Amino acid sequence: MTRTDAEVVVVGAGPAGLAATVALAAADPGIVRNMAVVDPSGGWLTDWHDRMARQGIRHLRSPITHHPHPDPLSLQRHCARVGLPHVNRDGRRLPSTAGFEHFVAAIIDEHDLPGVVPAAAVDVAVSRDRVTVHLADGAAIACRRLVVATGIGRPHVPPGVPDDSRIRHAEAINLRDLPPPGTRLLVVGGGLSAAHLVLGAAAAGLPVTLALRRKFQVRHFDVDPGWMGPKYLRGFAAEPDRARRRSAIAEARGGGSMPPWARQAIADLEREGAIEVLRHSPLVAVDAGQRGVRVRLGTVEREVDAVWMATGFEQDVCANPLLARLAARNPIPVHAGIPDLDDDLAWGGTPVHVVGSPAALVLGPTAGNLHGQRRAAHRVAKAVVPGFAPVEEVARHLR
Ligand SMILES: Cc1cc2nc3c(=O)[nH]c(=O)nc-3n(C[C@H](O)[C@H](O)[C@H](O)COP(=O)(O)OP(=O)(O)OC[C@H]3O[C@@H](n4cnc5c(N)ncnc54)[C@H](O)[C@@H]3O)c2cc1C
Repeated sequence: MTRTDAEVVVVGAGPAGLAATVALAAADPGIVRNMAVVDPSGGWLTDWHDRMARQGIRHLRSPITHHPHPDPLSLQRHCARVGLPHVNRDGRRLPSTAGFEHFVAAIIDEHDLPGVVPAAAVDVAVSRDRVTVHLADGAAIACRRLVVATGIGRPHVPPGVPDDSRIRHAEAINLRDLPPPGTRLLVVGGGLSAAHLVLGAAAAGLPVTLALRRKFQVRHFDVDPGWMGPKYLRGFAAEPDRARRRSAIAEARGGGSMPPWARQAIADLEREGAIEVLRHSPLVAVDAGQRGVRVRLGTVEREVDAVWMATGFEQDVCANPLLARLAARNPIPVHAGIPDLDDDLAWGGTPVHVVGSPAALVLGPTAGNLHGQRRAAHRVAKAVVPGFAPVEEVARHLR
């Protein structure tokens, strides 16, 4: 077994892991020389970039001030400088996917961040002031602090949906590799992912039905903007009852929603007769037969050739094997899948900090978004680097 030492290990090189690493580097530039980042993809944001390409996403949903760097205005400045301007949508400035990708590469460079060790972390042993991370290839890294940034979303598929190759979750869809012309397609879901899939398939001329559980919900962002400032976060932080905080998170995120531009694009296709839209049509039964897939949606039935489930993600800390091991060895309360972390995002007083959506009981319903990931990164940097305090203009965005 190879055994190395590091000051800090970050497990997971998605946007939450990047935000934490950049915040640590900003707090103590020397720390990056003694850091290890592990992710089976072997690169920074590999899954993120790949997902954007697969789903044909040309700009982010979140504003240009949301990204993994501590300075909110840095993405906008960067995009203007390199000629990859933001996109104006519904009166908001949104980063283009290309501009975001360019910016990510630039901040990795600017902070001289470490390369990513291409491995999965499979276990973690924690003592009071030391953590050992075990990797799938048998290697181990001992460190003073561990940051877990693996996400806990598990693709959600409604109960009763059979395991059949014609039925796939949105995460598995690649719009660059569409089914043959004439394939009758059903997209289930009312969120932006459903809209991206419908728009991509309809542009290729596939006959598409979109089925929503309820009616359309239109929102600029995943949650009400009040959750990105003191309007709602102050009351959330003052609520001592974790079960109530958990309910507030579920209520704030609600079902899927589309921003106005996506809702309009779907309405245009429906008006032109290019797609069928079934409202108030929850998926009741799916029968994957030999000829086609028969689906009951509320009171109507359809036979289709493929079903794409844009039905979101379930929050379950134990869905990630590493977090499940951590939870088994160091039990702490878990509320409907979300762990009750300390205020500095430590796991039950240990030197393990958890960022991303598992931090929602502390940070509120945007913990899994770029906005919450940056706030999480700030808390971790404060806990790891004694005396760290960002300049006030940056700090006010991070509380
Ligand atoms: C289609 C889509 C679009 C989105 N757009 C936006 C947006 O515009 N704005 C916004 O704020 N949010 C957006 N989000 C929400 C959120 O920002 C993303 O889901 C984001 O990818 C979450 O970041 P993360 O780092 O927590 O998790 P992930 O991106 O899932 O990254 C986790 C990383 O951990 C690695 N990992 C997992 N287990 C292990 C292990 N055991 N060992 C080592 N590595 C491991 C994975 O390989 C992965 O690289 C979007 C989500 C989706 C699905």
